[in-house]
Amino acid sequence: MSGAALCLKVILLGDGGVGKSSLMNRYVTNKFDSHLFHTIGVEFLNKELEVDGHRVTLQIWDTAGQERFRSLRTPFYRGSDCCLLTFSLDDGQSFQNLANWKKEFTYYADIKDPDSFPFVVLGNKLDIPERQVSGEDARKWCRENGGHPYFETSARDATNVASAFEEAVRQILASDDRDNHLINTNTVDLQRKSQPQDSCC
Ligand code: GDP
Repeated sequence: MSGAALCLKVILLGDGGVGKSSLMNRYVTNKFDSHLFHTIGVEFLNKELEVDGHRVTLQIWDTAGQERFRSLRTPFYRGSDCCLLTFSLDDGQSFQNLANWKKEFTYYADIKDPDSFPFVVLGNKLDIPERQVSGEDARKWCRENGGHPYFETSARDATNVASAFEEAVRQILASDDRDNHLINTNTVDLQRKSQPQDSCC
């Protein structure tokens, strides 16, 4: 392994209440709190990990899904290296809205070629027995909308949460511009990532 590390920004998008904050918290702190405060605008947490021999600092951005927060969240889409499109398996409407979320992200992040941008789709709340969205339908949507990887997760019991974030890193590593993310670990400046207009650390 080299002395360099990768600084990657991933962003969670999806309707309010699907579990974006809970997924981020489960992954970074390994805790689940059923009384989390609503996200207002955006928040981020960092997580250090190693994927396929690469040291990675993952900056995970959580966004407020409610329509009234649109103008607060969209400036932070730019510079994202991967977008985690999230819905809740017990909420069919949140699944229907995935296309809108992808469109909003692509527009505000100024993605020139959405077909080659890394998206990962998460169907959360797998622990709830009453499903409104089947795995078959979700996989079909992913196939027909760019061949995105699909994970069924539970922030409550941690099922597949780490695998989903690791897959996001793999998708980025497999994408064309991975060299843009190489940084020297001694000089990593995460503040740069938090600037709305910044493209990369
Ligand atoms: P966000 O608005 O998308 O960030 O959603 P939150 O993370 O705030 O979660 C909304 C609600 O769903 C909260 O009451 C969470 O406790 C609950 N929740 C989140 N993830 C899960 C999950 O995997 N399983 C279950 N049963 N509840 C969840």
